[in-house]
Amino acid sequence: PAARHRELAGARHFVGGKVPLGLKRKALRVLVTGGAGFVGSHLVDRLLERGDSVIVVDNLFTGRKDNVVHHFANPNFEMIRHDVVEPILLEVDQIYHLACPASPVHYKYNPVKTIKTNVVGTLNMLGLAKRIGAKFLLTSTSEVYGDPLQHPQVETYWGNVNPIGVRSCYDEGKRTAETLTMDYHRGANLEVRIARIFNTYGPRMCIDDGRVVSNFVAQALRKEPLTVYGDGKQTRSFQYVSDLVEGLMKLMEGDHVGPFNLGNPGEFTMLELAKVVQDTIDPNARIEFRQNTQDDPHKRKPDISRAKELLGWEPKIPLREGLPLMVTDFRKRIFGDQDSTAT
Ligand code: NAD
Ligand code: UDP
Ligand code: UDP
Repeated sequence: PAARHRELAGARHFVGGKVPLGLKRKALRVLVTGGAGFVGSHLVDRLLERGDSVIVVDNLFTGRKDNVVHHFANPNFEMIRHDVVEPILLEVDQIYHLACPASPVHYKYNPVKTIKTNVVGTLNMLGLAKRIGAKFLLTSTSEVYGDPLQHPQVETYWGNVNPIGVRSCYDEGKRTAETLTMDYHRGANLEVRIARIFNTYGPRMCIDDGRVVSNFVAQALRKEPLTVYGDGKQTRSFQYVSDLVEGLMKLMEGDHVGPFNLGNPGEFTMLELAKVVQDTIDPNARIEFRQNTQDDPHKRKPDISRAKELLGWEPKIPLREGLPLMVTDFRKRIFGDQDSTAT
């Protein structure tokens, strides 16, 4: 195992595509927690594509077997139904830690479970990484900035989070997960990476997860009114999922701990988003205003200078290009086409 580790450490320099001519990159063993979810399943596709072995650990709370079923016959793929709140013993080289519900509707469903997943689950995955000397990447969130008083948000901003509100199980959970990650880095010398992910959309999102893009797209397809919460003037910045996956892999393979904002700086009000959905799906889709939820952040937009400079990463797909790709997937799933998972 020690020799194998040295071999793999050497191989790390070439992971991510840039293999010098004539040199074959060594395959890695990669754990993706939450790998049956929306983002995780796209990451799994890319890791297997580049020749790595992938273990998914997922309790299928918000994830679906359908998202990864196309890999079930692949000997390099394995899925374990397991809750990260419980300890687990595995041997891998890298850990992408994504396990955690991401949609407000899902994470508010059982807030105590959400904070346990973020705190105890992250602690277990860090303990695992420490025992086996694996590199650890945490998927944190733009929610650590809360309802931000700085705009756009830079990584050095400490945020404006309500510690006792209905979103706190997620926001404060992720903030603690970041703390734990840095404490294992400093205290146990663990190699870690932190990504702060901004709103992401794309194929395989849960259709009824209550997030704004999935809601609007499903509503327009079903000929239901688009539900705009509040006055619709609050903003978000929407990133297409393949851009995010590219960023996560560059972060893991790069030399910098972070945190790094990974998001698309293109900022839209919810009314502007509704217009893009109308233009893409149905110009006659009606808009219906609903009461907004508690503690809803007024604006959110990433400053991605750090990721651009240190990771050589920036998103490539604007909303008007990415949305149609998601619509194709949603259309198939809503109207019952069997090929929906092939996207
Ligand atoms: P998702 O809900 O589709 O995926 C999360 C996955 O984790 C699911 O497969 C779920 O079953 C699994 N999971 C949840 N709790 C678990 C537990 N206790 N044990 C094992 N598995 C568990 O969400 P996503 O959008 O793919 O998000 C992935 C990660 O990225 C999350 O950590 C989320 O906080 C982060 N993130 C996502 C976004 C976004 O816009 N999608 C934004 C910021 C951060
Ligand atoms: N852990 C795990 N798998 C491992 C090693 C540790 O799930 O391979 C869990 C372990 O159960 C503990 C947590 O990770 O709850 C933190 O482990 P660590 O060794 O850092 O702390 P300690 O066990 O000393 O409290
Ligand atoms: N939102 C909306 N209509 C919906 C769902 C959400 O107007 O059907 C708004 C919500 O109030 C928030 C924004 O869209 O201001 C983004 O919400 P989402 O749940 O997608 O993600 P968040 O960034 O809040 O985690």
